[in-house]
Amino acid sequence: ENITSEDAIALENKYGAHNYHPLPVVLSRGEGVYVWDVEGRKYYDFLSAYSAVNQGHCHPKIVGAMMDQAQTLTLTSRAFYNDKLGAFEKYATETFGFDKLLPMNTGAEAVETALKICRKWAYEKKDIPENEAEIIVCENNFHGRTTTIISFSNDPVARKNFGPYTKGFIKIEYDNLQALEKALKSSPNVAGFLVEPIQGEAGVYVPSEDYLKRAKALCDKYNVLFIADEIQTGIARTGRLLATCGNCSCADKHCSGTPEVKPDILILGKALSGGAYPVSAVLANNHIMEVIRPGNHGSTFGGNPVAATIAMAALDVIKEERLAENAQELGELFRLKLNEFIPNCDLVTSVRGKGLLNAILINDTEESSTAWDICMALKENGLLAKPTHGNIIRFAPPLVMTKEQLLECVDIIIRTLSNF
Ligand code: PLP
Repeated sequence: ENITSEDAIALENKYGAHNYHPLPVVLSRGEGVYVWDVEGRKYYDFLSAYSAVNQGHCHPKIVGAMMDQAQTLTLTSRAFYNDKLGAFEKYATETFGFDKLLPMNTGAEAVETALKICRKWAYEKKDIPENEAEIIVCENNFHGRTTTIISFSNDPVARKNFGPYTKGFIKIEYDNLQALEKALKSSPNVAGFLVEPIQGEAGVYVPSEDYLKRAKALCDKYNVLFIADEIQTGIARTGRLLATCGNCSCADKHCSGTPEVKPDILILGKALSGGAYPVSAVLANNHIMEVIRPGNHGSTFGGNPVAATIAMAALDVIKEERLAENAQELGELFRLKLNEFIPNCDLVTSVRGKGLLNAILINDTEESSTAWDICMALKENGLLAKPTHGNIIRFAPPLVMTKEQLLECVDIIIRTLSNF
């Protein structure tokens, strides 16, 4: 017997920790670009679980792979080999162009892994004195929720009263090459630069053209590892297999050419599983990954055969259904349509983004509830989205959307904003 939305929300409120503030909608089913609530109302999902469900909800190929593997072997731990991990590692390293992969589960774990690899590389390959390594990060970053990661966040809500904080991070302004070079010069102990190719949680902040390429060149100049957190931007979301692929013409053919920026360390998560299972990974070439030796790092579930099988199916879907290309085309259409509308609307100041990672800026203060109220109205009209910061609404539907569906969504958004 079905629970009502009201009862489901009351249960979570009573028995769950209050670490989120969800939109009041209780979902019980998903298929492709759609989700349904417990009362049977259908919605377009314009969040895609923070870009984890790029391949669409319950993709039959991914679910099928998961079901088969779940009935065969689920977990061995890395104390033993399993027959799927090697195949996944080969597939992913060939797809993204690296020698080696280290499998984890969540995004934050993969970021932690990258930071550990970077520090160990610094001591063993760059001769930085032990405990002195520094990693440059950007203001308004979002890389996850562990104690080390929140140590270099500048969101007071994420940080306050969780100290003492992990040392060894230098924070600079995002999209500022002078600040980067100054930080690189400031000490011989700089080991890495951790950066999001587009700042997702900060409000889909797209850096200037060439920023990433020139930042990478600066890192090379100072022998510092360029670490790209593509957990949200990767896996076709921004119209390329990776956001660091930039504008290289190979992108639509699944990026087998030269990417605009080749990170030294690449961090993936979210859509690496199509949202079916927590799968994350860190990729690097041998001269970096070889600093990790038995006992240095691990995870009971990381690289399990279910995760490996799902990730291979999820990457197959990206390629077979040309989702990077689709995201590119639909993203351009989305911004075109909204840019036609915005001059006639006092409520929205601009739209920005790449591929199908977009956001609109609401003409109000961060403290106001306007963006939240608009999301509530969008929900009533059959489309689910969530504010990132107080006055920014992110629009990131599954990439399996059709042009007709996108145009219907644009209609819903414009109608909702017009009647607000
Ligand atoms: N890095 C980026 C860029 C993210 O967007 C996120 C999640 O939103 C994370 C890291 C953390 O991933 P997880 O929530 O799986 O730990």
